[in-house]
Amino acid sequence: MKSPFHVMIIPTLGCPSNCVYCWSSEEDSPVMTVETVRKTVEWLKNLKNYQVTVTFHGGEPLLAGAEFYKEALPILSEGLKHLEPTFAIQTNLWRMTPEIAKILAEYNIPVGSSIDGPEEINDIQRGSGYYEKNMKGFKTATENGLDVKYICTFTSDSYERKEEIFKFFMDNGFPLKLHPALPSLRGKEPEKYALEPEKYGELLVYLLDMAIKYINKAEIMNINDLVRCVFTRRGNVCTFADCMGTTFAIGPDGGIYPCYRFVGMQEYLMGNVHDNPSPDEIESSKAWILMQEFKSFVDESCKNCRHITYCRGGCPYNAIAPTGGEVRGVDPHCPAYKRIFDEIADRLDEEMYETSPGGMGYGGGNSASKRRRRKPGVTDLMHKIVMK
Ligand code: SF4
Ligand code: SF4
Repeated sequence: MKSPFHVMIIPTLGCPSNCVYCWSSEEDSPVMTVETVRKTVEWLKNLKNYQVTVTFHGGEPLLAGAEFYKEALPILSEGLKHLEPTFAIQTNLWRMTPEIAKILAEYNIPVGSSIDGPEEINDIQRGSGYYEKNMKGFKTATENGLDVKYICTFTSDSYERKEEIFKFFMDNGFPLKLHPALPSLRGKEPEKYALEPEKYGELLVYLLDMAIKYINKAEIMNINDLVRCVFTRRGNVCTFADCMGTTFAIGPDGGIYPCYRFVGMQEYLMGNVHDNPSPDEIESSKAWILMQEFKSFVDESCKNCRHITYCRGGCPYNAIAPTGGEVRGVDPHCPAYKRIFDEIADRLDEEMYETSPGGMGYGGGNSASKRRRRKPGVTDLMHKIVMK
C-alpha cells in the first residue's frame, strides 16, 4: 500500500473576511501563478510510492479565480498521475461561483468550509455578514454537485454556548469538525479568543457524549478520528502523527514550508519550488532540523505517556510557533489530548470488561442477552465508524 503524502497549495494569503481570531491571512498577498503550479509538479515528480493529497488552502483560495483552477487542476492531475492525486479545498465560500463549482466538481473535490454555529454566534466571531455570504456560496456549491463539510472554531467565548452550537449542526444535518481557536500570533492580543486546553478537553468529552447519545444522527469528525486513534493505536490525522517529511505547503510565491500554518513566516522557509531543491537541500534547512528536533523531544518527553503511539506530542506548529522557533515543550493542548484519550481508552476498557463472559458488569452472567450492554458506548461508536 502506498503511503500518504500531503501537499497544501496556498494560492494566496489574502482573505476578504475578517475573523477575530485569524492568524493566517495577509493583506496585499500576491496570487500564485500557474507557472508556480508547474514548478510544484516538477519539484514533486520524482516522488515514488506515495498517494498524494493536494489541498488548496489560504488565506482564501477562491480569490485565485476560476481561470487558476481551470489551468492548475489538469497540470497537477496529469503531472502527478503516478502519485494518484486526490484534491480538497478549504474555503469560506464567499467567492464560490457556478463556474468554479463545476471545475471543482469535475475533479470530485470535497469542500471544507467554516462556520462557527448559528448566524448570531458565527458573525460575532467571523464578522457581520459572513454567515449570509457563506450560505449563498454553500447553495451554489451544492447545487453544482459539490459536497461541503464544515469546521467550527470554538473560542473561549463560544465554548460557553456549546449546546446551542452542537444543536445547530445536528438540526441542519451538517457533520461537525471542531477546531480550537489558537493564539493569533499576528494579532495584538494573541490569547484573547484562544480556547484554553482544559476547556478544550471538556469540550471534546462533551462532544464524545453527544456523539454517543445521538449515535444515529450526529456526525462529529474529530471524535471519530480520536476513537479510531485509540482503537487502532495509530494517529490518523496530522495532529496525531509525525507530519514532518510527508506534509509540505507551497506559498503563493512558490516558497516551501512544513505546513500551511507556517506559510509566510520566513524563518520556516525550506526552499522554493522555482529552485527545485533536492531532498538533501530541504533536509538541511533550519525548519526541517527544527521539526526533527521536535520529534526527538516528543520521543523523550512523552515516553511514559500511555497515548504516545497515537498522539506523538500533537501539532509541532502549536508547540514551536508561539515560542519563536524554540522547542521548549509539546503541543500546549496536551492536557486536552490526555483528557479525551484517557476518557476513550478507559471507557473502551470498561465496556469490554462489562461485556466479557467473566465480567461483572451484568452480574457475571454469560448468556448473550446478559452480555449485551444496555446503553450505547464508545464501542458502538467504533462499530459505526468501521461500518461506514
Ligand atoms: S504542523 Fe500541525 S497542522 Fe501542520 S501538518 Fe503538522 S500537525 Fe498538521
Ligand atoms: S497526551 Fe501529552 S504527554 Fe501524552 S503523548 Fe500527547 S502530548 Fe505527549
